[in-house]
Amino acid sequence: MGPSLASPERLACLEGRTPTVATLCSHSSLQIFHGARAEGLPTLGICVGEPPRFYDAFPLARPDRFLSVPRVKDLPSVVERLRAEAAILVPHGSFVEYLGPEAFAALDVPVFGNRAVLGWESDRRKERDWLESAGVAMPKLYEDPAEIQGPVIVKYYGAKGGKGFFLAKNRDALADFHPTGPHVVQEYVLGTRYYMHFFYSPIVHHGYRLSRGSLELLGMDRRDEANIDELYKLGAQEELLKAGLRPTFVVTGNVPVILRESLLPRAFDVAARIIERSIELFGGMVGPFCIEGIMTEDLEYKVFEISTRIVAGTNLFISGSPYSDLIEPGLSTGRRIAREIRNARADGRLAEVLS
Ligand code: AMP
Repeated sequence: MGPSLASPERLACLEGRTPTVATLCSHSSLQIFHGARAEGLPTLGICVGEPPRFYDAFPLARPDRFLSVPRVKDLPSVVERLRAEAAILVPHGSFVEYLGPEAFAALDVPVFGNRAVLGWESDRRKERDWLESAGVAMPKLYEDPAEIQGPVIVKYYGAKGGKGFFLAKNRDALADFHPTGPHVVQEYVLGTRYYMHFFYSPIVHHGYRLSRGSLELLGMDRRDEANIDELYKLGAQEELLKAGLRPTFVVTGNVPVILRESLLPRAFDVAARIIERSIELFGGMVGPFCIEGIMTEDLEYKVFEISTRIVAGTNLFISGSPYSDLIEPGLSTGRRIAREIRNARADGRLAEVLS
């Protein structure tokens, strides 16, 4: 048995009851409800105002019931109701962002995965400490502009969609950057982006085993980003900058990708390091997570970010991916979450996968 992530009091509302999979109606909720339904678990959609009509268009992914709140921020006022429903909240990017990581972490309702991860992910410096101390390669951070070699990307803290990010092809070009707030100057990694969807289970003891539990690769995507993806069509970025046209990185969609098979050992190695270190630091990042990085021409994978929960790129693979099909045909990340809940419950190990 591994460490408990949840106290007996937190899980008391699930005692002797079939849990309900609950999430905010957004992001990857269709997949989460579809997966729970396939595993025979009831579902609850948390929505702002009236239940969204678009669920009527997807009968296999429509939640059994809805719980309406005036605003996402009002969720703490309905925790009693959630406990009465034996709800397990499944976090996704929009859920955590709209509520705020601190308010999410404070909810006194069972949450799928280890909520302690929120404190490590929401602070970019702590995230870097975690990944670098795991031995994961990351883009270099430049504290002193005199050290800059090669292209750089300047990121403002908390900039949504990379708004205001500045790209410079070398140290000299950075002279055109006039900061308007706190920012970091980072090596701009040249290569191809891969967003790898993994799942870590502390209760599975076969497959790609770690010191505790095991690791699965469920899919991979690349994000479409406006306007950077198509900016080149208008000409050189430096010229565009003079005309007031700046690159942005607003995610507008996702495309499926696969990795050269010979690079898969590297992908698993990076994921395994991140998980082993998370076990040491805060008891383990349980459930789905996404490693976001760039493969260079020297076949080095540099990680610029991780998402510590289900990412929207998994929506490509509701009926399986070239990777998850080799585990079980048709397995989605949403279904994998529900499966983990079901298996942990059957083994009396819910405290290891919920917090
Ligand atoms: P972020 O806000 O860190 O998720 O970055 C937004 C986007 O900027 C990413 O999806 C990448 O396309 C790009 N990006 C971020 N960091 C780097 C980097 N160090 N090198 C190259 N591209 C990057």
